[in-house]
Amino acid sequence: MQPNVTLTSTRHDAVIVGAGFGGMGAAIALQRLGIDDFVIVEREADLGGTWHVNKYPGLAVDIASMTYSYSFEPNPYWSRLYAPGAELKRYAEHVAETYDLRRHMRFSTAVAGARWDADAEHWVVSVEGGESINARFLLTATGFLSQPHTPDIPGIDTFAGTIIHTAAWDDTIDLHGKRAALIGTGATAVQLVPQVAKLVDELTVFQRTPIYVVPKIDGPIPSPVQRMFARIPLTQRVARLVNTSLLEAMMVTGVLHYRQAKLFNKGAATLARAHLRSQVRDPELRRKLTPDYDFGCKRPTFSNDYFRTFNKPHVRLETGTIDRVEPDAVVTADGERTDIDTLILATGFNLWDVNFPAIEVIGRDGRNLGKWWRDNRFQAFEGVTVPYFPNFLTLASPYSYSGLSYFTTIESQMRHIARLLGELQRRAAGTFEVTEHANAEFLDRMTERLGDSVFNLGSCQTSRSYYFNKHGEAVILRPTSTINAFREAERFPLSSYAFG
Ligand code: NAP
Repeated sequence: MQPNVTLTSTRHDAVIVGAGFGGMGAAIALQRLGIDDFVIVEREADLGGTWHVNKYPGLAVDIASMTYSYSFEPNPYWSRLYAPGAELKRYAEHVAETYDLRRHMRFSTAVAGARWDADAEHWVVSVEGGESINARFLLTATGFLSQPHTPDIPGIDTFAGTIIHTAAWDDTIDLHGKRAALIGTGATAVQLVPQVAKLVDELTVFQRTPIYVVPKIDGPIPSPVQRMFARIPLTQRVARLVNTSLLEAMMVTGVLHYRQAKLFNKGAATLARAHLRSQVRDPELRRKLTPDYDFGCKRPTFSNDYFRTFNKPHVRLETGTIDRVEPDAVVTADGERTDIDTLILATGFNLWDVNFPAIEVIGRDGRNLGKWWRDNRFQAFEGVTVPYFPNFLTLASPYSYSGLSYFTTIESQMRHIARLLGELQRRAAGTFEVTEHANAEFLDRMTERLGDSVFNLGSCQTSRSYYFNKHGEAVILRPTSTINAFREAERFPLSSYAFG
């Protein structure tokens, strides 16, 4: 952390970094404990995290909305099974209003870092500009996919046309009649490619690694069903349970419990291949779109119109390696030029260099969290706490992501917060810190469980998946069922913590 001249200093019970769904969930967990003196610091100009930042055409959830929402704040009025991005942003605003969170939020305020002051027993959170905020508890909810990745392709800076990253979409850009290149074929591109293809004259999609895409059972939710969800909330809870169970069976079981449930994994891969076959006739094109790694090594996605977009005469899939960008073209290693006037970067996010943690965090005895994670291994007890970091809850952590819907992660973390801080209050203690023993035991257990996953047993070498860090460890997803994550969040031994 840069030594800052402290201009002003305020004190609160808690500072939450990030006003997305993670930060708002953490805030609600604090409110339920009667902790109301907290500030939510957000670098963007408004709340909603991903759903505030991302605005590209075609943006929608790829987890059905009845699952991709807080279970305790269901929205009976989702317009579709998979709600468009703008509805998610409105849902975030609704949650903020319902739980009176806006008054706690400070926007356009970037946190530079945080340091534990052992004498004062509080965190000193430095905000860019010189201000510092002191707080007993620090909760970071900075997300996993929040730092856009711009590839350093030679010549990219010389491009003379319009260049746009999906995470910084500009609505004023008119794509009609353009000759566009789109780099990337992740979940974002799968949503965006069909939309861009409708507008431009020519579209070349540069694919480095193909993605598994399974059919999306989507459609508008008719108003009688919405009314039923509103009048009889149990019906929506049942729909959520069915959808969550399907996701759990297909994705979590087949991916994380690969050793025991390889059949689920192979079934999902077969479904994706059948989906591709039903949409693309050309065998060569199909071959190019077929992944050569196991299902789940990289996050799969859902779409009914991605594959078929490549059948259109003005859309081309380019699998040659990009050599360079010129002012008016993308040139592949074989020397082929694709003349363009618009370059769309669907190149995802940088996870490992700039997250974990997203801000500098210095704990007890000067321990630097980012350095410690890198010098040792990425680890966090139950995906939320770290030894030497008292009164700190890190919500975007190794082994924290549970299930496929982010809300499963948030809600299990809310339960952990409730149990941990509830115990702190019961003891009238000032500090908590996870013990080295509990942390080591959890890490050993997760490492052993990962041994059953597709990441260790499957063929993932060619997947280029962001799940893996530089040491080849897939440490984002918690390799257990979501039921296990919830159970442990509610019942972890209280002896896992030292209270002071
Ligand atoms: P991503 O999955 O990381 O995909 C980035 C793409 O860019 C990959 O195809 C990557 O190729 C390519 N790429 C990056 N650098 C490149 C380079 N130098 N040359 C050529 N290609 C390059 O990012 P994303 O598509 O934005 O999705 C990220 C995550 O966001 C998803 O996995 C999902 O979790 C989430 N998401 C969710 C939704 C939703 O509706 N809920 C929608 C969109 C995204 P390689 O694979 O070869 O590296």
